[in-house]
Amino acid sequence: MHKPHAPETIVAQAGGAIDAATGAIIPPIHLATTYERDPDNQYSKGFAYSRPDNPLTRQVEDVLGALEGGARTLIYGSGMAAATSAFLALERPTHVVAPTVMYWGLKKWLVEDAPSLGIRSTFVDGTSLDATAQAIEPGSTRMIWVETPANPTWGVTDIRGAADIAHKAGAVLAVDSTVATPVLTQPIALGADVVMHSATKYLNGHSDVLAGALVFARADAYAERAARNRGMLGAIIGPMEASLLLRGMRTLHLRVRHQSASALEIARHFAGHPRIEAVLYPGLAGDPGHAIASRQMMGGFSGMLSVRVKGGEAAAIRTAANLKIWKRATSLGGVESLVEHRASVEGPGTPCPPDLLRLSVGLEAPADLIADLEQALIANA
Ligand SMILES: *Cc1c(COP(=O)(O)O)cnc(C)c1O
Repeated sequence: MHKPHAPETIVAQAGGAIDAATGAIIPPIHLATTYERDPDNQYSKGFAYSRPDNPLTRQVEDVLGALEGGARTLIYGSGMAAATSAFLALERPTHVVAPTVMYWGLKKWLVEDAPSLGIRSTFVDGTSLDATAQAIEPGSTRMIWVETPANPTWGVTDIRGAADIAHKAGAVLAVDSTVATPVLTQPIALGADVVMHSATKYLNGHSDVLAGALVFARADAYAERAARNRGMLGAIIGPMEASLLLRGMRTLHLRVRHQSASALEIARHFAGHPRIEAVLYPGLAGDPGHAIASRQMMGGFSGMLSVRVKGGEAAAIRTAANLKIWKRATSLGGVESLVEHRASVEGPGTPCPPDLLRLSVGLEAPADLIADLEQALIANA
């Protein structure tokens, strides 16, 4: 049988599977938590209980695994469940190297919770391969964690360079590719051993499902420990959410390409604006991450950017308050544009500048988004 391979084709058809029982084009939602045993005491259909594995979760895994070029994919009930599982599946005790600027919730877990679980972290400037290499503790470091572009200042890490450092040290390279998505970056092709997504964001894309994913380059012992942990700890997604996620993923390429093009237009418009201190976006030619991003990202630089507002924290918060189209809310990657004063969320000790507004660009007309930001900056003066 001919099998379509272009990623757009795979996602548009959600893997192309037709329900064998009815011929339905859209897969059924199997709410069953348990499956009947055969008379000979086997489970010949491959399902026994829905905590370790269930049909729609498996279909999402097949589609995402194909997009990332992975050998084993696991879908979780949230991005944090996926990310923490990548660490917990390491042989422990272990040392890991992680970036100073990364998703704050995961960093908080690494600092406050992971040490008692045998995971000790060193945080470095994730955009510097030298700093990453220097933080390796030979024989103890089992993982380098990378987030690129990294929340909320969008620094870019050279994935291939980080993979070389990890592999020389006998460690794995894990990449949080939530913001890049498989549309813009292919971490496994660049040498990553595991790719993590908060599928809550672009993969689902509609701000109505909490989900996460790990995609492993190889179906090895590390991947199997993660799969076992997911079943044991019950971190799997439910069938309803898996169905929504599969539906959201069907338009992934259209959304991400449009959002990236709009973000670039917005970044260019506000770069050099009299009321803006700086625009942080790897798509801008002057951005420190632009050269690496141009090499390792394909067809866009993501729908995420940040602006630093002149006048400091109070001016940034006032600007957000003046916005009408952009909604003041956390999270990212949905079809509606969101703005967030990130330092307020991350709290004391954050590396996030106090004058920074994080922008998640949705599918609205970029001209409307630009006009709304313009009026908010003027009203702020
Ligand atoms: C949101 C997010 C996470 C955490 O995912 P949840 O689905 O909220 O648990 C991890 N990494 C990045 C980059 C994120 O944006």
